[in-house]
Amino acid sequence: MNRNLQLFSIAPKSVANKKVDKDELLNEDEKNFYKIVCRRCESVFFPEGAVRYIKAEKPIDLRVMTHQGKGEPGYEKISWWWYTEDDMAFDTIGWQTINRKKYLMCGDCELGPVGVRSEDNKRFWVAVERCKYIGGDDR
Ligand SMILES: [Zn+2]
Repeated sequence: MNRNLQLFSIAPKSVANKKVDKDELLNEDEKNFYKIVCRRCESVFFPEGAVRYIKAEKPIDLRVMTHQGKGEPGYEKISWWWYTEDDMAFDTIGWQTINRKKYLMCGDCELGPVGVRSEDNKRFWVAVERCKYIGGDDR
């Protein structure tokens, strides 16, 4: 579609919002090149190079973000994730349980969900498009 072509032709100056170019976000090890921070308060979720990028074979439904998970928002399908099995990889993160599912949210301002964690608390996924990216080599 023409629309996509146009989006790709825009200079990738800001990766802070919705449209992220994943190639811009990765280092040589397929890990995050930038610091991954909360979109709202810029609290750091992950330092540089902490988490691996994966594309889910099947998109996962994730509630639309709200402050403190209030209200009855809809869901959106998310395919791009930052993935880790190490809870020490996180700098700051909060979590909440909604309908027995475990969600990750900002540990400071409680914006979320930004991701999910597995039942056994050993695996974590953070939605690439729900984060903001800072640092790296400032362009
Ligand atoms: Zn925050």
